[in-house]
Amino acid sequence: MKILIMNCGSSSLKYQLLDMEDGKVLAKGLAERIGINDSLLTHQVNGKEKVKIQKGMKNHKEAIQIVLEALVDKEIGVLKDMSEINAVGHRVVHGGECFTDSVLIDEDVIKKLEECIDLAPLHNPANIEGIKACQQIMPNVPMVAVFDTAFHQTMPDYAYIYPIPYEYYEKYRIRRYGFHGTSHKYVSLRAAEILNKPIESLKIITCHLGNGSSITAVKEGKSIDTSMGFTPLEGLAMGTRSGNIDPSIITFLMEKEKITAEEVINILNKKSGVYGISGISNDFRDIQAAAFEQGNKRAMLALKVFAYIAKKTIGSYVAAMGGVDVIVFTAGVGENSSEMREFILDGLEYLGFNLDKEKNKVRGKEEIISTEDSKVKVMVIPTNEEYMIAKDTEKIVKGLKK
Ligand code: AMP
Repeated sequence: MKILIMNCGSSSLKYQLLDMEDGKVLAKGLAERIGINDSLLTHQVNGKEKVKIQKGMKNHKEAIQIVLEALVDKEIGVLKDMSEINAVGHRVVHGGECFTDSVLIDEDVIKKLEECIDLAPLHNPANIEGIKACQQIMPNVPMVAVFDTAFHQTMPDYAYIYPIPYEYYEKYRIRRYGFHGTSHKYVSLRAAEILNKPIESLKIITCHLGNGSSITAVKEGKSIDTSMGFTPLEGLAMGTRSGNIDPSIITFLMEKEKITAEEVINILNKKSGVYGISGISNDFRDIQAAAFEQGNKRAMLALKVFAYIAKKTIGSYVAAMGGVDVIVFTAGVGENSSEMREFILDGLEYLGFNLDKEKNKVRGKEEIISTEDSKVKVMVIPTNEEYMIAKDTEKIVKGLKK
């Protein structure tokens, strides 16, 4: 079965074509600047050079058409024709409380997705546009929606209800939703597989640390708490996002700086986090270079703040689960930065592990980085959200054929 994975942003479209026989990526790419001048498609077939195609893309429909043309092209393509695509899996950011798992897309699902727009005004409209465009171009191909929020729908009410008047939950569905669900699900399943243990027997803490970061407590295979909340602004310090702060800072800043609530939220989303503290960059490589090679104090402070909050979050999830068996690091920083992993883990050895400093040098590949005699296993597992989306899509589409 060949599955096309679509991840539509407001002006971009990321795609991967996977062959589910062996899980191989046949082709992948990115269409950028959709609806803006100078739209660009970067397309790459497995094992070949990247190809750049500059072509007008007024909207997502035009972008998808160009992607499909590239996929069936005699020179740069991998398919004889479009009918080889058996299913399309769409990444959808917010499924609200409607979706606890991936679903086959029909009219009713689209209606519910539209009802969730309020919860993710920046992301869901683009996701819906991508789905509708694909449906128009490939009307007979089954499509599946896979949600960033769905994995966290197993959280108990006391973990997702905020201590504010309950009527706001009833009126507006204000609650913790959590994000990066596909990634947390993938790495927790993979950790159980690598350790050859049933996931139902494990307490796992998954640390997705990238430009956006979140940590999840996965007990018996289910998310029971996660650090992102109503929006992806809550929780850890991130590349440019503040994560948790005292909400009173918002009105204080509005008064002092004579700015609107919207402007403060923009600052908290785009100018805060390690970028805000260091004043250097949102890229951890730049901040690490400044801190370790140039002795830049604010860069070092940014790294320390990031690590300290992550460490406290891990500790709180050990408390929430009544223990921990596995700690997993994933995403850009988690997979690649041995320094950040060491910062975060330093002082947590009492949980039952020792860090193997040699193994911790690993970058971007699966490795157990705790010593062999450690009771708690610490692992690096590169995330693979596209594969997880494809697996869910395959499962649902195969179910249709029975
Ligand atoms: P992601 O959002 O998962 O794509 O992660 C992107 C982030 O990973 C970038 O902002 C980088 O800061 C970080 N990153 C990638 N490689 C490294 C590395 N070798 N060391 C530290 N950080 C890295």
